[in-house]
Amino acid sequence: MTAKDIWLEWTQPPSMAGPWLGSRWELKSNMLQIHNLSATVGGKPILKGLSLTVNAGEIHAIMGPNGAGKSTLSYVLGGRPGYEVTGGSVTLDGQDLLALEPHERAAAGLFLGFQYPVEIPGVSFVQFLRESLNSQRKARGEAPLSGGEFLKLARAQAALLRFDMEMLKRPVNMGFSGGEKKRAEMVQMGILDPTFAVLDETDSGLDIDALRVVGDGINAIMRRPNKGVLLITHYQRLLDYVRPDFVHILSDGRIVKTGGPELALQLEAEGYEAVAA
Ligand code: ADP
Ligand code: MG
Repeated sequence: MTAKDIWLEWTQPPSMAGPWLGSRWELKSNMLQIHNLSATVGGKPILKGLSLTVNAGEIHAIMGPNGAGKSTLSYVLGGRPGYEVTGGSVTLDGQDLLALEPHERAAAGLFLGFQYPVEIPGVSFVQFLRESLNSQRKARGEAPLSGGEFLKLARAQAALLRFDMEMLKRPVNMGFSGGEKKRAEMVQMGILDPTFAVLDETDSGLDIDALRVVGDGINAIMRRPNKGVLLITHYQRLLDYVRPDFVHILSDGRIVKTGGPELALQLEAEGYEAVAA
């Protein structure tokens, strides 16, 4: 429990809680709360009692050595088959995330950026994005966007990421370079406009210009008082553009150290073993 949570409890007696105060208090509330999470992959324990709280308006970076369980954490949050939760809990805006199907998690506002984005032959990116958005809107009881409305939105988001609209007419990720896939993923995030994003090594394979564009995109789309981000990264470079509120070191399935942005600099200089010891 953080000082902020305690402050919230003190200042929000149950009798005061009500829809008329909702938006005001939501600004300070926990968005993602992971408590003592354990998970196995192929019967092998990977997450071993991981706890982490992200408040609305915060960006948290997760760093850690290869094989620590960073990608496993993002898959477990997304509900990927084969990743079995063996203990603990996860709530998003107070909702039991682990009880939801993957598509329900997305409709609830969760977005996952993948370390290795998939290619889908035969389906154009525009088509894929429109279907994704409209199925989420449907699950939330919102009307679907028409083709015209959708294209307007897609154009605006592509422009933000300086992504060529023509490329969005090609099959999903087919023939895209590593950097283009990551930028396309940010365009997707802009279109879906999630409340919480888990971005797994969004910076891998990016040159320095693309890194800046992606960093600016994350800030523009997700740096909001009612949103939150878990940014999984190996290098502190991306954190020059997207300044995290907290940096955590994940090692052997647990958070072993938490600090501010300076922790990322210290890691870069000294390495995981020295800092996490
Ligand atoms: P990170 O993203 O931190 O590098 P991962 O979450 O990808 O780490 O992997 C954590 C551990 O889980 C690694 O030791 C990896 O070998 C193991 N692992 C991942 N997928 C499987 C699988 N399908 N079967 C067994 N072990 C797996
Ligand atoms: Mg990984």
